[in-house]
Amino acid sequence: MSRIVYVDGAFVPEEEARVSVFDRGFLFADGVYEVTSVLGGRLIDFPGHVRRLGRSLAELALANPHSEAEWLALHRDLVARNAVTDGLVYLQVTRGSAGDRDFAYPGPATPPTVVMFTQSKPGLADAPAARTGWTVIAIPDLRWGRRDIKTVQLLYPAMGKMMAKAAGADDAWLVEDGLITEGTSNNAWIVSRGRIVTRPLGTEILHGITRAAVMRLARESQLEVEERPFTLDEAKTADEAFVTSASAFVMPVVEIDGVRLGDGTPGPLARRLREIYLDEMRRAAM
Ligand code: PMP
Repeated sequence: MSRIVYVDGAFVPEEEARVSVFDRGFLFADGVYEVTSVLGGRLIDFPGHVRRLGRSLAELALANPHSEAEWLALHRDLVARNAVTDGLVYLQVTRGSAGDRDFAYPGPATPPTVVMFTQSKPGLADAPAARTGWTVIAIPDLRWGRRDIKTVQLLYPAMGKMMAKAAGADDAWLVEDGLITEGTSNNAWIVSRGRIVTRPLGTEILHGITRAAVMRLARESQLEVEERPFTLDEAKTADEAFVTSASAFVMPVVEIDGVRLGDGTPGPLARRLREIYLDEMRRAAM
């Protein structure tokens, strides 16, 4: 069945959707995106995602084409039109097309391109992988320096996924100066000496919306969270590890570069945080 997608103000069947070949998203990866999950037909942590969208746009001097209330209405409309129960809503805003190729940004007369689409993923929160955990490999972090902006420039993360696949692993953790930055499309965490550790915010990582929620919920549950950089070596000797993202929620990591963590099964804190996160987020879904 064909999806209904949203392009520049209109809901159309995906086969009819059109974007210019001169669109700057296509030519320069000049655009940002957001991903919000849907559980039971409702949006998970939407306020966080729409706020980060505003920040990403502002960092690139891109005008935000919609208010937060308008974005919410568009998300709900698209979810309803596609009858999504569990899945994801993707949105992309690019600097549009000035009708030619030129590095300089076009003037304000060129409107941004807005594209939204859904992916239906029945049982998204019951992924079998959450019961066995992911294996990851470490690869050098060769991305650009503004990873805090959620741009559509995802080639290196895609290469990282392929490196992981080739190595028989589920994902790759990125390493810079011996320190883990994050996963290809998620934030990286370890549990070391009873504390939950994740890298502090900066330009080196995406400011994960799931990361922020998990950190808040962990603290509310009297768990100790430490924001500090950690090395690949420390990760390999950690008691547990996990990643967070809007699509994987809290996903245990059981092996790094072939080194098993603990007994090689999802750790108790990762499992507990996944449960707390899903319970809490389902309750607050909109
Ligand atoms: N880091 C990167 C590089 C990502 O692509 C993502 C997922 N978009 C995340 C972290 C997790 O962010 P969020 O929890 O907002 O999905």
